[in-house]
Amino acid sequence: MTDRDLPPHDDAVAPLDDDMRIFRPRRALPTDVVRPTRAEVNLAHLRHNLHVLRHSARGVPIWAVLKADAYGHGAKAVARTLERAGVDGICVALVEEGVELREAGITVPVLVMGGYAGSAFREFIHHDLTVVVHEIGQIGDLAREVRHADSSGIDVHLKVDTGMGRLGSRREEWQRVAEAFLAHREVRLDGLMTHFANADVAEDGVFDEPLQLFEEATALFTAAGLPPRVRHAANSAALLRGRAGFDLVRPGIALFGVDPLAGAPVERALPPEMAGKLRPVMSVHSKIVALRQLTAGDAVGYGSTWNAPRPSLVATVPMGYADGLSRALSNRGEFLVHGRRAPIVGIVSMDMTMIDVTDIPDVALGDDVVLLGAQSAKSSASKAFSASSTESGLAEITASDIARASGTIPWEVLTNISRRVPRFYREA
Ligand SMILES: *Cc1c(COP(=O)(O)O)cnc(C)c1O
Repeated sequence: MTDRDLPPHDDAVAPLDDDMRIFRPRRALPTDVVRPTRAEVNLAHLRHNLHVLRHSARGVPIWAVLKADAYGHGAKAVARTLERAGVDGICVALVEEGVELREAGITVPVLVMGGYAGSAFREFIHHDLTVVVHEIGQIGDLAREVRHADSSGIDVHLKVDTGMGRLGSRREEWQRVAEAFLAHREVRLDGLMTHFANADVAEDGVFDEPLQLFEEATALFTAAGLPPRVRHAANSAALLRGRAGFDLVRPGIALFGVDPLAGAPVERALPPEMAGKLRPVMSVHSKIVALRQLTAGDAVGYGSTWNAPRPSLVATVPMGYADGLSRALSNRGEFLVHGRRAPIVGIVSMDMTMIDVTDIPDVALGDDVVLLGAQSAKSSASKAFSASSTESGLAEITASDIARASGTIPWEVLTNISRRVPRFYREA
């Protein structure tokens, strides 16, 4: 395809082939000349995960958490897909993330949870975004803005701190917060929310104290004549455990196919046939752009931290830490080639990473490499590939695998995939 098939401005969505669209990042060149490194976002898997979470939620409305550009998947495309699939609301961290979704035509409720509103309250009113109030001074500020905007009032959600120690009104302030709401009737307490610090910790008691405090807050505001219309607390882990459903749930990571409870010995709210059935939404692909036969002792990468222990075939893949591949994977991580694992050798550099493919037969320049996701032995081979394709089935590298190898969590692995990596959207 040529450049002219694509609309001219950035962020344009254009047909690529039957079930793929490209979401053009800001600095990308025409698609037929960009380097082969790309992220694929499987929207069918996203819809599947929403379906699984619906079972878990047992009828409680789902507000998808799409902060940080939908955990790196592209907030607009993800929000449109989920809205069409019937999601009940969306949560973001920043007001600009909310504005981006409204400008993309999203009409379901959007809750802005990140706490920082600055002088942007008029943006909330103008774009019909729901403010999370977490601090008493915000109530008077908001009331002033509402009067200024000639608006009849604004519904807000109040966040209370039940042990997270991050954002949210603390118990000793609740009475004064209630009085502030009563003094500024144009700011209406519509929702009451909290966030768990330990929802993924495999102990039964982790919800006890937070839930008791949350009930205490509910009772206090109700007694003050401010009964919240909706209450919510559950992130993915709490939802999958069937805890703290209240009136809506706020899953993030599970929508993208990562099970925050993987391996944890906890009870789940899913019917057994659905457990473990979340599907990864993002995969990252590239190709081998250089291949070198080394003799024993030859060094690879900055600082010569890896030396070939034997005659070795080493491939260069054009993705590095500036693309979001952690430098902590140096001499630790793995990529997939021909459906088999190839260890990263040497230091991950800004734009490139090397892998040892000595033990993989028939590797050639241009062969597909999977950095995140699954690869089958057959489909990944270059045209000449034939032997040994049956011996290995489907190999997979998950965000959790990468997190483990690099000492972080899957949330950071996904949000790190940088803007430099173009996102391709697959509908089926
Ligand atoms: C990020 C976030 C969530 C979603 O958490 P996951 O673990 O990704 O499901 C829910 N609520 C709040 C307040 C958050 O910040």
